[in-house]
Amino acid sequence: MSGDGKRNPVRPPGWPEGAGQALVPPLQPATVYGAAGPDALDAIYEGRATGFTYSREAHPNAQRLAGRLDALEGVPAGADGGPGGIVTSSGMSAISALLLGHLAAGDHVVAGDRLYGRSLRLMTQDLPRLGLAVTLADPGDAGAVRAACTDATRLILVETVSNPDLAVADIDGLAAVAREAGAVLAVDNTFATPLGFTPLAHGADVVIHSLTKLVAGHSDVLLGYVGARDPALAEALSTAAQSWGLTGSPWDCWMAERGMATLELRHARASENAARLAAFLADAPGVARVIFPGRADHPDHARAAALFGGRFGTMVSFELDGGRDAVTAFLRGAEGLAFAPTLGDVVTTLSHPPSSSHRSMPRDAREAAGIGEGFLRVSAGIEPAEWLLARFAAGLAAL
Ligand SMILES: *Cc1c(COP(=O)(O)O)cnc(C)c1O
Repeated sequence: MSGDGKRNPVRPPGWPEGAGQALVPPLQPATVYGAAGPDALDAIYEGRATGFTYSREAHPNAQRLAGRLDALEGVPAGADGGPGGIVTSSGMSAISALLLGHLAAGDHVVAGDRLYGRSLRLMTQDLPRLGLAVTLADPGDAGAVRAACTDATRLILVETVSNPDLAVADIDGLAAVAREAGAVLAVDNTFATPLGFTPLAHGADVVIHSLTKLVAGHSDVLLGYVGARDPALAEALSTAAQSWGLTGSPWDCWMAERGMATLELRHARASENAARLAAFLADAPGVARVIFPGRADHPDHARAAALFGGRFGTMVSFELDGGRDAVTAFLRGAEGLAFAPTLGDVVTTLSHPPSSSHRSMPRDAREAAGIGEGFLRVSAGIEPAEWLLARFAAGLAAL
């Protein structure tokens, strides 16, 4: 968040400043808006005047939030001068807006082979049902993605950082493959956040977020965002979001914008805590291995260093010797740490992929992917590092 002269960079942008003005933008829950008459409505629908008609199409809180995310992700404004990005009711509805707005039956999609569970389900079950072909490929290997492309490929969908192995996609390489194939490269940037990485600056065409996670940041908002570089594509995604009913509610947008006031602080502290935890766990007895892109022993460390500018994210995974029993003992000993299958909260959360995000994966396949019963994933929060390390030490002492 950089300052532009006198304007306070922490205050909501575009909100009037000065004596007698509310410090905080209002929550506008209205679903419908009046107009002066048919000519005024024409002007709004034709983009000659600004105004709102019906909240599924647009509302002030979504517009404010979309504008802030556009600024962080470098998404250009829309044809009407308003935000180019779209706020959706969840991260999944952001992905749905992309699929429904961009693809047609007969198209082919190349998708990352370790996408978020629900995204993977869309790729392997729902798209084929709708007449779309999907090939999965390793997003860290641009050559493999190129080999998976066909003449019908219109979309390459990957995540910046995968769950729970924290592999880093070769976004620059994939952008070149997408250009060659005439396909759109869409990047789910949820794990990195726009403060950690901006996909459009590396040649991606579309950026997606589950704002539910670090951006809103308090586990009390379900919301998503999708932004596109090309105005025609942005328009198609916006139309799909409105027609399929995928847009987000004013309250959630208001809460997410409030969360964004502290995003930079939370991201900085949580990233620092994640790095401290990774270093602590690497030297701890009972820990078989630690997965953190900031460590030299991570397979994608060099790429993460090149892409992320010195901060390696807020997620750490590790594996305990002793399987599920060790996990159960650790969690009991580490009382005070939340065990919850989510990420990006102000508090540190631990999840156990074999019993949550990866439970539908057959055990053999899971273990082949390195996700054994002793595997834990940490989403670092903003607690004092000393407290956090002491809780982890207590968990390990209980093994
Ligand atoms: C959580 C998540 C999603 C889905 O977002 P929701 O807001 O839960 O719908 C998509 N992608 C990634 C990487 C996520 O972590």
